[in-house]
Amino acid sequence: MPKDFLKGARDEYDVVVIGSGLAGLTSANILARQGFSVLLLEHHYQLGGMATWFKRSGGHIFDISLHGFPIGMKKSCRKYWTQEIADSIVQLKGIRFENPQFSLRTTFDRQDFTKHIIEKFGIEPEVVQAFFDHARSMNYYDDQTTTTRELFERFFPGRSDVVRMLMEPITYANGSTLDDPAITYGIVFSNFMHKGVFTFQGGTDHLVKQMKAEMERNGVDIRIRTLVEKIEVTPDRRVSAVHVNGRRIGCKAIVSNANIKSTILKLVGEDHFDPSYVEDTKAVRLNNSSCQVYIALKPGEGFDNVGDLLFHSEHEGFDANAMLSRDVSSRTFSFYYPETRPGSDRWLVVSSTNANYDDWAYLSEEEYEASKKQLCDSTLDCLEQYVPDIRSKLDHIEASTPRTFQHYTRHLAGASFGTKFEGLKVSETLPEQIAGLYHAGSVGIIMSGWLGAVNYGVIVSNKVDQYLTPAPATV
Ligand SMILES: Cc1cc2nc3c(=O)[nH]c(=O)nc-3n(C[C@H](O)[C@H](O)[C@H](O)COP(=O)(O)OP(=O)(O)OC[C@H]3O[C@@H](n4cnc5c(N)ncnc54)[C@H](O)[C@@H]3O)c2cc1C
Repeated sequence: MPKDFLKGARDEYDVVVIGSGLAGLTSANILARQGFSVLLLEHHYQLGGMATWFKRSGGHIFDISLHGFPIGMKKSCRKYWTQEIADSIVQLKGIRFENPQFSLRTTFDRQDFTKHIIEKFGIEPEVVQAFFDHARSMNYYDDQTTTTRELFERFFPGRSDVVRMLMEPITYANGSTLDDPAITYGIVFSNFMHKGVFTFQGGTDHLVKQMKAEMERNGVDIRIRTLVEKIEVTPDRRVSAVHVNGRRIGCKAIVSNANIKSTILKLVGEDHFDPSYVEDTKAVRLNNSSCQVYIALKPGEGFDNVGDLLFHSEHEGFDANAMLSRDVSSRTFSFYYPETRPGSDRWLVVSSTNANYDDWAYLSEEEYEASKKQLCDSTLDCLEQYVPDIRSKLDHIEASTPRTFQHYTRHLAGASFGTKFEGLKVSETLPEQIAGLYHAGSVGIIMSGWLGAVNYGVIVSNKVDQYLTPAPATV
C-alpha cells in the first residue's frame, strides 16, 4: 500500500500553505507563531522550492540558488526566523566581471562601484552620485512606465560598458531586461548596493533544516510529497478547502506559494473569478528559466581563490537575449570553497545561465541528453581559463535545464523568477476575488529572489492575520 503522507493530519486548519518555497515557509512560520493552526503542503520530497540542494555520491552537495542575495536577508531572518539563521549570513567579497569590454573585481557595493565607474569608465562623479541617489529613491508606487533602458540612457547615454556593469548581475539575479520597468531594476540594484552580496554559510540544506526545526517549534504541520490538486471555493467566493492526495482538508485561509498563474487558472479554475481578472492573469508573462552545470572536484583537490561570483561573457556588449540563448556565450560561475560548508574539504563550481523553456522543452530524449552533454563540455572549456586542469581534477559533472526546474517546482515553463512585473498586481488582488485566498511567491521581479520571496511571505502573512483576526467590537 502506498505510504500515507497525510497520516494523522486534521480535517480542518486555520490556514493551509501550498508550497514550501521561501515565501511559503516564511508565511507558514509567522502564522503558526501568531497562534493559527497551519498545514504546510509540499509536493516535493524536500522543502525549500528553488532554495534547494542535492547530493551526489562521493559526498558532494550542490546548492541550486545560493549565489548571492542582499543584506536585507539578515534582518528578515532575524525578525521572522531565528537569530541563529541570521548569524550564518556572511558577505561574499570577490565579485568579478570578465568580458570583452572590461575585466574587474569588486565588492559590489555603492562605494566600490562608484570608484570603478569614475576611474575605469571616466564618468563624472556627480553623474554617478545622481544615478545612485535616483535608484535608491525608487519604490513600488513610482512611475512604472519608464524602462530600465530609458533610465540608463538618461544617466549614461551610449555607454554600453557602464550599462553592462550595472545591469548584467541584475539580469542574472532576477531575469529582468532593459525593457522591464526601471523600478524593478532600481529597487533590486539598490538593495545589493547597500552593503554588497551575501550568502548563507553552511549551505541551503543547513538553512532549510533550521527553518524546519523552527516551524516545528511553532507547531506547523509539515507534509512533504503532498500535491494539492484543487482549491475549493464556495459559490459566494470564499476558500473552503484544499484537495490533496485524495483527501479534502478544510480551512479558513489559503496561502498559495505555487506559481500565480497555476494557482488561479489550474488550482481554482477560471469560472470562480471575474472575467477581466482572468484576462489579466492570462496576460501575465512568465519570467525566464535557467540552466546550470554542477561541477565537483575530487576530494582534497582545489584551486586558488578566483573570486566568489564571476560574471563571464564572450558577447561584445550587454544583450539579455544573447544571455538566454542555448548557444551560450555568458555564464555566471559560483565558486564554493571549503569555508562555504565549514568542516568540508570540497571545492565546487556551479555555472548558471539564463535560458528559454522552449529551447529545451521539445527536444527528443536523445537530443536533450546530447545538449546537456554539450553544455557540460562547453562549460568546462570555459572554466579551464579560471581553474587550470579542471578536467583532471573533476569528480562529478551534470547539468539541469528549464525542464528540471519545472519538474521539481511545478513552475510553468520552469520560470526561475516567477513572472514579469504585471504578475504582482494579479497576486496582490487575489483576495479581492476570493475571500481568504492569498498568493505569496515569486512575482513581478521585485518579489523574487531569496529576499523578495521571504519579504513577500511576511507581507502576505500579515494580511492573512488581519483577515482571520476579527476587529475588536467598538463600544
Ligand atoms: C538557477 C537559479 C538560481 C537562482 N539564484 C538565486 C540567487 O543567487 N539569489 C537569489 O536571491 N535568488 C536566486 N534564485 C531565485 C530564488 O531561488 C527564488 O526566487 C526563490 O527561492 C523562490 O521562492 P518562492 O517562495 O517564490 O517559491 P518557489 O521556490 O518557487 O517554491 C514553490 C514551491 O511550491 C511547491 N508547489 C507548487 N505547486 C504545488 C502544489 N500544487 N502542491 C504542493 N506544492 C506545490 C513547489 O514544489 C515548490 O517547492 C535562483 C533561482 C534559480 C532557479
